[in-house]
Amino acid sequence: MEKIYDVMILGAGAGGLTAGIYASRGKLDTLILNEGVIGGQMVLTNEIANYPGVETTPGYELANIMKKQAKDFGCTIKTNIKIVEYHLDGNIKTVVLEDERVFKAKSVILTPGGRPRSLDIPGEKEFEGRGISYCATCDGDFFHDKEIIVVGGGNSALEEAVTLTNFASKVTIVHQFNEFQAFAHAVEEAKKNPKISFIMESELREYIGSDKLEKVKIENLRTHEITEMDVDGVFVFVGYKPNTEAFDGIITTNDRMEFIVDAAMKTNIEGVFAAGDCIAKRYRQVTTSVAEGTIASLSASEYLRTKK
Ligand SMILES: Cc1cc2nc3c(=O)[nH]c(=O)nc-3n(C[C@H](O)[C@H](O)[C@H](O)COP(=O)(O)OP(=O)(O)OC[C@H]3O[C@@H](n4cnc5c(N)ncnc54)[C@H](O)[C@@H]3O)c2cc1C
Repeated sequence: MEKIYDVMILGAGAGGLTAGIYASRGKLDTLILNEGVIGGQMVLTNEIANYPGVETTPGYELANIMKKQAKDFGCTIKTNIKIVEYHLDGNIKTVVLEDERVFKAKSVILTPGGRPRSLDIPGEKEFEGRGISYCATCDGDFFHDKEIIVVGGGNSALEEAVTLTNFASKVTIVHQFNEFQAFAHAVEEAKKNPKISFIMESELREYIGSDKLEKVKIENLRTHEITEMDVDGVFVFVGYKPNTEAFDGIITTNDRMEFIVDAAMKTNIEGVFAAGDCIAKRYRQVTTSVAEGTIASLSASEYLRTKK
């Protein structure tokens, strides 16, 4: 007889793994299907210092602890898969993988998260991986004693700029406004670091190089003057895009393509919930994804009880 899970969770970042922990601990037959790396964006983070109860830890370690917790409670996790069909209406929800495997469940929790946003300027495609990076943890080590730019003014930009001073000889933060959006302590840390300097009210306009990135064009947004700056690398931390394209026309989103959910994490489809960076919300943190994963899982559990 074909297997029908109680809960199928799509995405194994902080939100999905937490939903998996709660559902399997609640004795629900739980499957997590994950495209990409287990842990999602946590794995991109060099050090997570603001997850309560856990001392500063590399993101991949926190991800591994969450994965182990979910598995220990009996959750099945399948990763490095590609889902090509979603049939989420009706009492039994079905997804079909690229390799034609079919998985079914009575409820679904969507936790596909998001990915870093790029600047969308000339030279991007040529120099991605050859000087342009979106992950200090992954690529910082390539920039020992090099001069780099960090683009952005939020927490990620300032915290990762500080991390990158462990490798680079000089880090210049380029930010479009005259103030940062990051928390005060992150701004303070960056400002007191002697390797970090700032170019405010400015934006990158072009990546230039031959085999690898060599310089960038920067526009001062007040004077519109464009200057060129020699650089070995550029790290971009300018926000994120939700991974919701696959659900276009299935799950209701806002104009930023973020899933719209209610306080119980219910989407527009009965028995389908969503949590984490994919939903419409203000703050995207491990703690917020974990909280929403918890709510989505408990809501799915209640839904299953009422369906019996
Ligand atoms: C550089 C950086 C530094 C950060 N630093 C911190 C920090 O210090 N503290 C903090 O609290 N937060 C930090 N954050 C934010 C935090 O990492 C995220 O808010 C959180 O991890 C998001 O978790 P999530 O589960 O919602 O999504 P994600 O982590 O994005 O996980 C989603 C997973 O789902 C997979 N997926 C995508 N689509 C599908 C699909 N259709 N089916 C199945 N799987 C799919 C993805 O590949 C991914 O593995 C940082 C983020 C970045 C990028």
